Amino acid sequence: MNLKQYREKRDFRKTREPQGDPADRNTGRKPVFVIQEHAASSHHFDLRLEIDGVLKSWAVPKGPSTDPKEKRMAIATEDHPLDYADFEGTIPEGEYGAGAVLIWDRGSWKNITEKDGEVVPAAEALQNGHLLAWLEGGKIRGGYALHRTGGKEGNWLLIKMDDDEADRRRNPVSTQRESVETGRTIDEISARDSGNGGAPR
Ligand code: MN
Repeated sequence: MNLKQYREKRDFRKTREPQGDPADRNTGRKPVFVIQEHAASSHHFDLRLEIDGVLKSWAVPKGPSTDPKEKRMAIATEDHPLDYADFEGTIPEGEYGAGAVLIWDRGSWKNITEKDGEVVPAAEALQNGHLLAWLEGGKIRGGYALHRTGGKEGNWLLIKMDDDEADRRRNPVSTQRESVETGRTIDEISARDSGNGGAPR
């Protein structure tokens, strides 16, 4: 577990994002996933999967698709602490990732990566650049493939697997905009949290 990069990018006197407790362990629960809409300088969705005590993270500019024919670019970003899955609010101007963050979907996930009929541990699957994840969220469900591309380092593709949860037309990124935590939209979060100087809630 390494949150050094995460912490180095942030000034916790200014941002309300969690610092991450090194003793934080998910014991007994299924591993969590979260997808956060992030209205940073360039708008994107952050996909985070719990693997070995941290949230492995990708910025997905267009967000996840439910159409197996759509390949969504996903850029690997630094590991985030587990409690980041509960973060919704604004990151103050001037800080890393400044802008509103909305909990767009959340749930548990299961590693379904296999090789020769055996499950490949998630961390190993990531190193190999091929991870199959079964997501159980409110908006996003079923299998998703994450494939590292041969191009620039950190570039991956996020692709819906062709299963019962695949749907060519659903497009939840456009039609289900509200937070699964608070029901707010990203504009409501921006409006409510701006102008309070980033004071803790
Ligand atoms: Mn982000």
